[in-house]
Amino acid sequence: MSQFWSKIVHELTPYVPGEQPKMANLVKLNTNENPYPPSPKALEAIRQATNNLLTLYPDPNADALKSTLAKHFNLTSHNVFVGNGSDEVLAHVFQALLKHDKPLLFPDITYSFYPVYCGLYQVDYRTVALNEAFAIDVDDYNQECGAIIFPNPNAPTGRVLELEAIKRLLKNHPNQVVVVDEAYIDFGGQSAAVLIDQYPNLLVVQTLSKSRSLAGMRVGFALGHATLIEALERVKNSFNSYPLDKLAMAAAIGAFEDQPYFETTCQKIIDTREQLTQFMQDLGFNVIPSAANFVFATHPKVDAATLTQQLRDESIIVRYFKLPRIDQYVRITIGTDAENARLCEVLAKLVVTTG
Ligand SMILES: *Cc1c(COP(=O)(O)O)cnc(C)c1O
Repeated sequence: MSQFWSKIVHELTPYVPGEQPKMANLVKLNTNENPYPPSPKALEAIRQATNNLLTLYPDPNADALKSTLAKHFNLTSHNVFVGNGSDEVLAHVFQALLKHDKPLLFPDITYSFYPVYCGLYQVDYRTVALNEAFAIDVDDYNQECGAIIFPNPNAPTGRVLELEAIKRLLKNHPNQVVVVDEAYIDFGGQSAAVLIDQYPNLLVVQTLSKSRSLAGMRVGFALGHATLIEALERVKNSFNSYPLDKLAMAAAIGAFEDQPYFETTCQKIIDTREQLTQFMQDLGFNVIPSAANFVFATHPKVDAATLTQQLRDESIIVRYFKLPRIDQYVRITIGTDAENARLCEVLAKLVVTTG
């Protein structure tokens, strides 16, 4: 029936998300969700919101949520855009701000949704290789381009870029939009949101899916100069007037109103990450220094695809990418202490027998 398809649909290569298996007693460390539940305040806000009139449409402008975010980041509501997960925000960013005559630049090893959006919106792009240590060198971006995007910390490497390097990149490209996708920033980096007043070419994208434990609610946002935000609003209002439902907005506001819970759960994940890193290094893994809620690691004597399968046989699911330069690495999401203990037990057994 594909003769009914639009021409572009034939050419798309859709993104493949990490699986959501429905097995019991699974240790699920493959999609970087938070192992801790959302803040009780977020859950209570959702319950309260179910008493609202769900017969009526939600606020199309999400004013209450925008004002919560603006206050949190010391900005105004004109600097805030919200969407149905940061994936949707990013989709609008690609269409509104990254499609130019000159190519978009992003790292060769990065979030694999970027080339997918380029396919959907016909954005010309060129990748820039990470250095030998899998780090972004901002000077490698000193080339003709229409715009730049990268995650910070980068995914799936977990490496973070310092604010000084981001400043240099922004200064080197005053006439290009630079998008910093901060999905994992709360696990160890410094947000570039503090630079928004000084750099009208900076757009910061964040999500409530990782550090705020709300992947199931689908809330993401962008922060930037009012002109950049207006471009996103134009696309959004030509696409879907109500991307965020009432429960999602209430949950997001509740999550941002519970800073102590947020800080405690982030710190627990950071502590577990450091423990896991040490444990894996002792087993002979090379673990890339991570500022995210996952580690990216390789072992000189263990094949990564085999290890992924062996872990799966023990009901532990991790992420493996069969891609150039990283096909001997596994990406492991940081779980609870109990999940981490189980992971370490199985890793020790597997590496001794196969390593
Ligand atoms: C998880 C992730 C996102 C998407 O987050 P959602 O808000 O759940 O859509 C965006 N960018 C990167 C780099 C991610 O890892």
